[in-house]
Amino acid sequence: MKLSKLFTKTLREAPKDEESINAKLLIRGGFIFKNSAGIYTFLPLGWRVIEKLARIVREEINTIGGEELFMPALVEKKYWEATGRWDVEIGFEAKGKKEKNSAFVLGWSHEDILTSMAAKFISSYKDLPRAVYQIQTKFRNESRAKSGLLRGREFLMKDLYSFHESENDLFRYYDLVKRAYFRIFNRSGLEVIYTLAAGGVFTISDTHEFQALSSVGEDKIFVCSKCHYAENSEMSKLKDGDKCPKCGAEIQGKKSIEVGNIFPLGTKYSEAFDLKYSDKDGNQKHVVMGSYGIGISRLMGTIVEVHNDGMGILWPEDVAPFKVHLIVLDHRNQEADKIYEDLEKSGAEVLYDDRVEQSAGEKFADADLIGCPIRIVVSKKTLEKDSAEIKLRGQQKTGLVKLINLADKI
Ligand code: ATP
Ligand code: MG
Repeated sequence: MKLSKLFTKTLREAPKDEESINAKLLIRGGFIFKNSAGIYTFLPLGWRVIEKLARIVREEINTIGGEELFMPALVEKKYWEATGRWDVEIGFEAKGKKEKNSAFVLGWSHEDILTSMAAKFISSYKDLPRAVYQIQTKFRNESRAKSGLLRGREFLMKDLYSFHESENDLFRYYDLVKRAYFRIFNRSGLEVIYTLAAGGVFTISDTHEFQALSSVGEDKIFVCSKCHYAENSEMSKLKDGDKCPKCGAEIQGKKSIEVGNIFPLGTKYSEAFDLKYSDKDGNQKHVVMGSYGIGISRLMGTIVEVHNDGMGILWPEDVAPFKVHLIVLDHRNQEADKIYEDLEKSGAEVLYDDRVEQSAGEKFADADLIGCPIRIVVSKKTLEKDSAEIKLRGQQKTGLVKLINLADKI
């Protein structure tokens, strides 16, 4: 992609109404645009990051048997009434301009509508287990929408739902999801802590959250300094300095961001929608369910909160919008165009700063802000040596690489 053609431009200053680092850097870099409080557009650069995260999520969830589908955002009243969730205040109600009363809630979670559909397809133990998921926009009327992508009123979620014969089988799958989640977060460049959290009216036991440590997190967890056993402070009886109930080492209170969670739901939803199956002996039983969320846009915001410095973002390699940020100095020249084309041909994703009016300083600042993992500079000086200068984001050290070796080096 040539920067001279990119839809967006970087901003020197962060917008005054944003407080969070993720929003400031992502807006300045041209990744997102704030349309309203807690409502953002993913601009071309930002959408590339979302697509990379979504791809990782799809690969890992497909591996554990998840089948992707896509449910409506407008969810009709009858579905929410069956579970008593019509009045839950987190929702946005919707109605047609011509109608007087709301007939829909914009989906903020999809257990209700999905369970009603599953009742049409699942009737026997032979139809179990099943797991379906979607990556979709969720709508929540969050009052504290001040943390950029960490808490949107409209945001992207991966929601997975599983259906089982028994609680035993649910917990077998729960463990598979847990391991898939660790792989997703690791590939996204985040270390997460598996944290015990409170259950709710719809769960059969405690739930679990995946928490990324960060001083801007809204959550507080008590985590063992040695074995990383953790509990959410909302339900924990632990406190700073206590001994870990698992290994005896010291417990510490830490702020964190919840990037994902998993819920053993049990049969509350299957009871509400009469989702039953007949077991091997012909007995009718309610299907046992689980649900599993990852906030994909919150994940993007969390990555920025964790991986940044004074100058900009440091994208982990697998989620960076481009692998290489190629800069040409001393006005654009054909050699640099050729390097760009060759790198692209070799399969590298390259953002090419071919702009002619920007100074070297401005180009370097933009490369740091946008945060691609590898910076390559081509100038008169490097070309005299048939070379380009290469530098990793986050490191000071630069090196010269012969042009013929460049693609291999990348
Ligand atoms: P929180 O406790 O942060 O309010 P939650 O427990 O209500 O979130 P779920 O309803 O289970 O979250 O949603 C699943 C995932 O979606 C969360 O783990 C989080 O990563 C993400 N998420 C939830 N609310 C938001 C939001 N307002 N903006 C961005 N991501 C969100
Ligand atoms: Mg939560």
